Amino acid sequence: MSEFRVDLDEITFNLRHVADLEGLAALDGFEHVESETVDQLLAEAARFAEEVIAPLNRVGDTEGSRRLDDGSVATPTGFKEAYRSYVEAGWGAVSMDPDYGGGGFPHLVGLAVEEMFTTACMSWSLCPLLTQGAINLLGAHGTGEQKALYLPQMASGVWTGTMNLTEPQAGSDLGAVTTRAVPQPDGSYRLFGTKIFITYGEHDLADNIVHLVLARLPGAPPGTRGISCFLVPKHLPAADGSTGARNDVHCVSIEHKLGIHASPTCVMSYGDDEGAVGFLVGDENGGMRAMFTMMNHARLSVGLEGVAIAERSYQQALAYAHERRQGRAPGAPATESSAIIDHPDVRRMLLDMRSTTGAMRGLAYRNAEAIDRSSHGADADERQEGSERAALLTPLTKAWATDLGCELASVGLQVHGGMGFIEETGSAQHYRDARIAPIYEGTNGIQSADLVGRKLSMRGGAAVRDHLDGVRETAAALNGTAGLKSVCQHLEAAVDATGEASEWLLAAEPFDRLAGADAYLRMLATTTGGAALADGALAADRLEAPELAADRAVLARFFAANRLSAVPGLLAAVTEPADDLVAAGRRILAG
Ligand SMILES: Cc1cc2nc3c(=O)[nH]c(=O)nc-3n(C[C@H](O)[C@H](O)[C@H](O)COP(=O)(O)OP(=O)(O)OC[C@H]3O[C@@H](n4cnc5c(N)ncnc54)[C@H](O)[C@@H]3O)c2cc1C
Repeated sequence: MSEFRVDLDEITFNLRHVADLEGLAALDGFEHVESETVDQLLAEAARFAEEVIAPLNRVGDTEGSRRLDDGSVATPTGFKEAYRSYVEAGWGAVSMDPDYGGGGFPHLVGLAVEEMFTTACMSWSLCPLLTQGAINLLGAHGTGEQKALYLPQMASGVWTGTMNLTEPQAGSDLGAVTTRAVPQPDGSYRLFGTKIFITYGEHDLADNIVHLVLARLPGAPPGTRGISCFLVPKHLPAADGSTGARNDVHCVSIEHKLGIHASPTCVMSYGDDEGAVGFLVGDENGGMRAMFTMMNHARLSVGLEGVAIAERSYQQALAYAHERRQGRAPGAPATESSAIIDHPDVRRMLLDMRSTTGAMRGLAYRNAEAIDRSSHGADADERQEGSERAALLTPLTKAWATDLGCELASVGLQVHGGMGFIEETGSAQHYRDARIAPIYEGTNGIQSADLVGRKLSMRGGAAVRDHLDGVRETAAALNGTAGLKSVCQHLEAAVDATGEASEWLLAAEPFDRLAGADAYLRMLATTTGGAALADGALAADRLEAPELAADRAVLARFFAANRLSAVPGLLAAVTEPADDLVAAGRRILAG
């Protein structure tokens, strides 16, 4: 099995030349974000990812987490020690609010660090991912008292966080949540109900776990309008912040899964005895609004899992392709067999992995930059623009990058031939681990519905039109750059087809719009990812570093010829299937 290395050059290039870290550093609140400081931070994070987290990946898969008879959950060998080092080094606090002990770096920098840790071991990194989402929710919607008591402990990572939405009858449809919250005379609540599939709902990494739980108050309106958000700590904190009495919330079982074996997926029971003590976060019946703060953060992070798993799989496939010798590649001496990397088809697979992962990374980093601009923009207009852009890019990053994470992990396995199917090589683990990402944090079907519903209709369609105009500017710049003209042609064709699909959907009836949603998401995301890759090639060209410029041009051209070129062909998949879906519902799929 190959050793994992963080590709620091690639990450740094994307921060500076695809996303605009320098521009962010000029904004109020980010003055301390100097180039040298960021470089030191990233180099240290890379070392931590390679030396401390990466060794957990294999043992995490083979041992998995176990629930013990007393209801506690034991994580695999080494997880606790790695987590302790993570807390001591303060990695959880990189982009957190300095008022609560955070480093105050842009979310973009935090995402780069997150990418390194996720690539090193996806199942370990899920615990920090959920904690950071919980911090965002509390930071945006918690009371002053809640923030003072919980945020410093969570920003440091001493306490971890979870997201408790799903119930057996309430998955994508959170309006069906039935967990009850009963008001108490002292202003607190008692919660009763069962949550399923709760990631790191119980574990042995931290002293306390802060659950953010969706539940209903007595007499609440039906559906999502009647859901409130509650903070339910595993241990009720004492006034001095130390962990106090055990709360009435318990892990009753953990799931056996296809992948991410080390991440405990828990069934949580609330209120088996006197009721789990909880505290309202945000407004009564305003739980969905509060939870969306957490979900949007988590959706970008899950999209990043697609990038991370594709990167890890690529590195492993590349190393194998250099080692494995088979047959004779065109032009190779007759006397010796060639390394498989010399076969054009194996090179194709590896370049597809490399260029597509680059496009996914560019999209994810620009998504994070938009989030930073939405909170730190110089004026209200910039903040509004950032917020709109983040809203548009989030479903693209979540769905496109996670679908491709599966596809590229499969390509990585294919590069290994039969050995890819054998567990010992480790390639199969990436394939299994990747498969959850299109499902959780809102399935990719829900992401595409969100895109053609809420997001496409922002400002009557003007938000997406403005976004596509930005892509057209990239295409125009490509046209004037030698060696990138073919990218220009494919990008122009892709953006035109995506624009046509957008207008068709804006005028379409709801059924027709939803029928074409998945294909539209792929069109818009491929075009946006292709533009990010092309902007990287243009930036490298301006840097006057010939090798870098040549390599970036190859990646942009390869992606344009192999993936952007397919975008116009998807137009029919947006505009045509609705009639057939109605017919299929009547006859072919009649239950
Ligand atoms: C390993 C793992 C970890 C998880 N971690 C957490 C966690 O930490 N916290 C938490 O709360 N939950 C968690 N979940 C739950 C996860 O978020 C849900 O599984 C997911 O939201 C889908 O819900 P469901 O499984 O009920 O599928 P369903 O909602 O039953 O969906 C089944 C299929 O129908 C489609 N579908 C459903 N409704 C619609 C619609 N309106 N429009 C179009 N298509 C639709 C879906 O896209 C899907 O293809 C986790 C799940 C797993 C497996």
